Amino acid sequence: MIINNSKTDPNKILPMNYLWARQHYKDGVSNNWTPEEVSMQKDVEQWKSEKTLTDEERKLILYNLGFFSTAESLTANNIVLAVYNQVTNPECRQYLLRQAYEEAIHTDTFIYCCDTLGLDPEEIYNMYKTIPSIKEKDDFVVEFTKSVFDPTFTTNGIDNIRKFVHDLIGYYVIMEGIFFYAGFAMMLALKRQNKMVGIGEQFEYIMRDESLHLSFGCDLINTIRQENPDIWTEEFRNEIITLIKEAVVLEKQYSNDACPSGVLGINAEQFCNYVEHIADRRLERIGLPKQYDTENPFPWMSQSVDLNKEKNFFETRVTEYKTGGNLDWD
Ligand code: FE
Ligand code: MN
Repeated sequence: MIINNSKTDPNKILPMNYLWARQHYKDGVSNNWTPEEVSMQKDVEQWKSEKTLTDEERKLILYNLGFFSTAESLTANNIVLAVYNQVTNPECRQYLLRQAYEEAIHTDTFIYCCDTLGLDPEEIYNMYKTIPSIKEKDDFVVEFTKSVFDPTFTTNGIDNIRKFVHDLIGYYVIMEGIFFYAGFAMMLALKRQNKMVGIGEQFEYIMRDESLHLSFGCDLINTIRQENPDIWTEEFRNEIITLIKEAVVLEKQYSNDACPSGVLGINAEQFCNYVEHIADRRLERIGLPKQYDTENPFPWMSQSVDLNKEKNFFETRVTEYKTGGNLDWD
């Protein structure tokens, strides 16, 4: 049993029971990167020049920096303060330590962006309080996961296991799996137009990490589900579907707010369709029926996520520059 197992010795990692956790750890290590490896030279020039970026594009960049700069910390805190306490299995903990490090890298990315572009940190780091469509996403996750942050919380009993699964769904499936993805699409679309390519590349690396976090989270949720089948009642499944649908509404609101009239030839509706498409994939991943059946408007996004993990870091970059030309937007 992955939780509530009195026989688990958190210090004894061998022999392992959950080889998927070990595999995610190794995949994380082979994805290693740091933000300073990415040049911000061109981004700084474009940001300072009057000509390159439209006002809408600047707003979209600021919104995404504002959202991610604090969302990374919220996620890191959840791993260290909530998930790590409850999951004592050593190979899962090894992954959680790796994930926590990756969240530190992501936090560092936004420090690096603020510094190099000369942005006002008070503005960026307060956006999760001052911009309603960002605040609502963060509040949504924090609200329905807060019981797990109670220091006396344990996963004993079926109700508490459900609360813990709520927390995992809140952070892994909704925050990292849905709330990050409209932003990823916007920043990667900019990069494909040769705008803010440094930040775009950093977002690609973050997205590659996040897709692993999501995989680990879904494997953890599915293992808890299989080992505690009593939690997975129709009522609970419907509750989760409802939460994911609410999250989709919030993510669409964010998309409409960050790029109201569309940018780069992409209209806001396409971002909304993308959110629905992503939500269906997440639902299926945790054994729930898809709700939207929306076609993926951005097939190029999955190519970016699927960047071969084992591929050499620098080779990948060269290939991307070669193929990062024009796009068909139909
Ligand atoms: Fe992250
Ligand atoms: Mn993450």
